[in-house]
Amino acid sequence: MSVLVVGSIGLDTVKTPIAEHADLLGGSASYASVGASFFTDVNLVGIVGEDFPQAHVDFFGSRKIDLEGLEIVPGKTFRWSGEYHVDLNTRDTRSIALNVFEQFNPTLPPSYNNTPVVLLANIAPTLQSRVLDQMVQPKFVIADTMDLWINIAKDDLLALLKRVDMLILNDGEARQLTGENSLIKAGARIRELGPRYVAIKKGEHGCLLFGENEFFSCAAYPLEEIHDPTGAGDTFAGGLAGYLASQDHGHVTPESLRRAVVFGSVLASYNVEAFSLERLRTLTPEDIKKRYHSFKTMSHFEVA
Ligand code: AMP
Repeated sequence: MSVLVVGSIGLDTVKTPIAEHADLLGGSASYASVGASFFTDVNLVGIVGEDFPQAHVDFFGSRKIDLEGLEIVPGKTFRWSGEYHVDLNTRDTRSIALNVFEQFNPTLPPSYNNTPVVLLANIAPTLQSRVLDQMVQPKFVIADTMDLWINIAKDDLLALLKRVDMLILNDGEARQLTGENSLIKAGARIRELGPRYVAIKKGEHGCLLFGENEFFSCAAYPLEEIHDPTGAGDTFAGGLAGYLASQDHGHVTPESLRRAVVFGSVLASYNVEAFSLERLRTLTPEDIKKRYHSFKTMSHFEVA
């Protein structure tokens, strides 16, 4: 079973306390689609300008990523620049240029309409809704979001939430969306807004999964050095969605979702070991399996 990924594709300039690099492959859909491609076929929906390097298109094509839904139009590609603070948990956006994104009106190739699992990676909630309008009864719809949309497009986001099975967001965003300081209360409140499942990411402290009578806490992999946290959340979402699509014809159970959260965390932990998507280029299925088992060992304990 395949997964449809829609989101931003762009060129990032990123400064961390260790280094600064310009014009790197970035964007929520880039990380998410490559993350998902470790598990299943991906239908990618996005837009770039004519300045987008062919090498990046070729990289997507070298993965299990279908590019019929990638629009290449006259104009400049989306650009984002961010600078991380010393703790790497917080960052400032230095600049953002929407460029061709301003004219993005996602139109799905007919062959994408029946994709069973949909990942609406981080873009404006109206665009995420427009993609859903074109889908024919998807089995499982996952949405990601960010603080910007909670600030400037909350009503659009609330309308979208009624149509998705799962929302992924970070701890600050969950608090901002619900006004609840307790993440446990926030998870429950977000479920009341629509999604059956909610994953709240806590950066280096892992992730919480909420469902009906379901709570799962997944640690983060204990990395000694993080080179670039950019895209960790998107890679997490991509790995999670790709794994779900690869299981039981996209039929999701609380058990498969727990495993998906761990696979998403495995991919995110690898992604932050290098800038941009560099670590994902060399990552192997064996690497993924090995770290998945480390996660299991890390959280296992005997009944007393
Ligand atoms: P994350 O680190 O998971 O928040 O994702 C970082 C990626 O999001 C970067 O590669 C950016 O290109 C992309 N990005 C930043 N701002 C936006 C935005 N407003 N809409 C869509 N994508 C964005």
